[in-house]
Amino acid sequence: MADLSQVPPGPNQFATLLNALNAIDRRLGRIEAHLKIPTGFINQQQQQHPQQPQQQQQQQQQQQQPQPPPPLPPPQQIQHHPQPQQQPIVMGGSVPIARPIPLEPPPQGYTISSRASMQEELDQWTIPRGYSMRIAGAKVTGKRKVRWVCFRGGEARHHRAPVDQSVFEKAKLEGRRKPTTDRTSKKCGCLFKFEVIETAKDSDVWMLHYPNEEHKVHNHGPSDDTSDPRARKLPPYMSAEVDRWLREGWLVSKIQDELKAKGFTNVLNTDLYNRKRLLKKEEGGGGHSSMIG
Ligand SMILES: [Zn+2]
Repeated sequence: MADLSQVPPGPNQFATLLNALNAIDRRLGRIEAHLKIPTGFINQQQQQHPQQPQQQQQQQQQQQQPQPPPPLPPPQQIQHHPQPQQQPIVMGGSVPIARPIPLEPPPQGYTISSRASMQEELDQWTIPRGYSMRIAGAKVTGKRKVRWVCFRGGEARHHRAPVDQSVFEKAKLEGRRKPTTDRTSKKCGCLFKFEVIETAKDSDVWMLHYPNEEHKVHNHGPSDDTSDPRARKLPPYMSAEVDRWLREGWLVSKIQDELKAKGFTNVLNTDLYNRKRLLKKEEGGGGHSSMIG
C-alpha cells in the first residue's frame, strides 16, 4: 500500500486514496462473500448492509414464504351467544363435559368462605354429584359450628295412600311437581353428614369435618335433576330474569318456553308458581330472596 503521509496533498493523492479504498472495498466484498456461506449468517449480514436492496428483497421474500396464514380469531370471539349449559352453576342435567363422581363427599378440610354463602358453596360441590345438604343444627356460641345432613336423611313419612304410576307420569308431562307420596319418600334414612366448623372465633372462615367414617357414605344413588329442589335452582342472572317475567305477569308456560330455549329444562311449573306467590307476598313486605330454594 502507498505511504500517503510522505506525499504532499494534491489531485493525485485523492486518486490514489480512492483506488486504495476501492481495493479495500473489493477485498472486504470477497471476505464477506466467503463468510456469508452459513444461512443464518447471511440473513444477519444482509440486514446490516442496506446497500444491497436486491438481495434484501429476495431475503424478505424468503422470510415471508414459510410464514403460515394469519391465524383465525379464537373461538370465544366467534361465539356470540353464551350457552347456559356452560355456566358451572347450572346443575343437574345441564352440567357440561366431565361429570363428577356421583355422591362423592367433599374432602375433609374443604374450606368455606363465609356463613352467608355456606349453602351455596356446598351446593356447588354436592348438586353436580347428585345430592344436596341441609342444616340439621348449629352451635352458635364460642367457636361456631354448623351440622349438615344429606337431604335424604331422616325417615320417610307414609301418611298418604300410594299414588298410581299414571298420576306421576301425567304430572311430569305437565311440568308439575310429582305427587306428594313421591316427595315425602325422598327421605330414606341416609346418614351422610358432616360439620362445618369456624376455624377461629368470629373469623367467618369455615372448614368441613367428618365426625366419623361411617357418616361419609350415602345409602342411596344420586338423585335426578328434578327430584332435588336445590338441583333446580337457577343461576342468579337467570333467576333475576325469571323474577322480572313473573312481575310482568308472564304465563308460566311462556316462561318455561324461554327457559327451555336457554337450556334450563329442569325447572318445574310448581317452582314458578311458588316463586310467583312469594314475589306477591314480598310486594307488601319488601323483602328479597332469589328464585327456588
Ligand atoms: Zn344421602
